[in-house]
Amino acid sequence: MKLENPDYQIIGGGLIGLSTAYALQKQGASVRVVEARENVALETSFANAGMVHASLCDPWNGPGVGRQMLGSLLGRPSPMTLSMRAFPGMLGPDMLRWGLKFLKHSTSINHWNATKTNYALAHYSMAKISKWREELDIDDDYTGKGLLKIFREAQAFEESVALTSKLQTIGLKAKTLSGTQAAQIEPALGPIAGDLVGAIYYPDDYKADAYNYCTALARTILKQGGEIVTDRPASALIQGADKTIGVSTKMGDLLARTTIIASGARSADLLRPLGIRLPVRPVKGYSLTFLDMAFLNKGGPKLPVVDDGLHCAVTPLHGALRIAGTAEITGFDTSMTTKRLSPLLEMLRDVYPKLAENLTLKDAQTWHGFRPVSADGMPFIGTLCPGLAINTGHGHMGWTLSAGSGVLLADLLLGKRPKIDPAPFKARRP
Ligand SMILES: Cc1cc2nc3c(=O)[nH]c(=O)nc-3n(C[C@H](O)[C@H](O)[C@H](O)COP(=O)(O)OP(=O)(O)OC[C@H]3O[C@@H](n4cnc5c(N)ncnc54)[C@H](O)[C@@H]3O)c2cc1C
Repeated sequence: MKLENPDYQIIGGGLIGLSTAYALQKQGASVRVVEARENVALETSFANAGMVHASLCDPWNGPGVGRQMLGSLLGRPSPMTLSMRAFPGMLGPDMLRWGLKFLKHSTSINHWNATKTNYALAHYSMAKISKWREELDIDDDYTGKGLLKIFREAQAFEESVALTSKLQTIGLKAKTLSGTQAAQIEPALGPIAGDLVGAIYYPDDYKADAYNYCTALARTILKQGGEIVTDRPASALIQGADKTIGVSTKMGDLLARTTIIASGARSADLLRPLGIRLPVRPVKGYSLTFLDMAFLNKGGPKLPVVDDGLHCAVTPLHGALRIAGTAEITGFDTSMTTKRLSPLLEMLRDVYPKLAENLTLKDAQTWHGFRPVSADGMPFIGTLCPGLAINTGHGHMGWTLSAGSGVLLADLLLGKRPKIDPAPFKARRP
């Protein structure tokens, strides 16, 4: 439905923008989603690892991240790599400011505070996703049944068990296992059970297809009288006498009572001309999806598995097998070279050697996405100035945090008392 001047227009039709629109609509507001691409959810929400995982709520800038990133420049293996290709952009003031803040927040205390905060939002969000799943006409291959994290090094296992124990004190459910016990829960891990020093099982986490979930949200928003305009990049915010009144696009202005930026890794772009320097930058990841894996129906993997040592996740989805991972700070570099993709195939061989035996990159659908990573590891959710709000910076957790973030912002904008503390997610924070 075409709307003249809706209550809210959301810039960005990914997991966060659509969840925000749906949450607002459910509370009676009129909504328009403005999307740059030809359809919704074609950027970072398209082929992610497909895991809803409160267990992985710790930000990536933990203690020691600076050393790891510098080491990556020298070719040492690291969960997060800094690419030389990022350097022209790195020298820009925004990237430099983000990088310094990212490092500043990597102290133990900041990291734990952000982890706790993200856990609260993740827990809340997962309850909302479950409720919405009942309302939406959706096929996101949800089967429940948990997530396994497997370990090959004793120190990493001990550190993860320690963090998990802290999270258990605030509600996370988890069970520590041996490699053999992990293979009892996921028999497809049998061939590598002997290589594992241990595993952790998180029964409340699960796999589900983010893209199908997004398209179900979009269908419902339209059915309920909302508007979704595609192929329409917003080029600038329009300022009225004392507030933001809309956005300009190549096909004319789009006005609304309040505009919400949910443009993922691109969220900082529209704010820069207002002098607002949002510390959210892209961290690139990749996925390979192998379709028609007939074996998935005959004793193939059933659960999502995160391999801590290899820094990858393997998820069976809709009869396909997806491997996702890598975290590169390389600006908005869209290249997808064999050099970048081959390591993912190698990782798949390390997790499921038999299944991956005859697979090549040619058998895979390849994809990359830019995680919108905030410098302090928590999303920005709230009002920035009159007529303008944001919901972005969800990093590696956007699927998990989507519904909770949407409802939190909707409550704040509609003057309702939020069910979780909004203070740590404030739109403007140092
Ligand atoms: C490899 C990988 C694996 C991941 N796995 C998981 C996982 O298992 N679980 C999890 O919780 N999270 C995961 N994530 C993170 C998650 O995918 C992201 O946090 C989430 O997709 C971000 O959603 P978003 O809506 O903020 O951004 P996006 O999905 O990128 O949506 C933003 C939208 O805004 C649009 N846009 C941008 N600029 C404009 C403009 N000017 N005008 C109009 N539209 C605009 C874009 O086209 C895009 O559609 C993963 C990410 C990656 C890269």
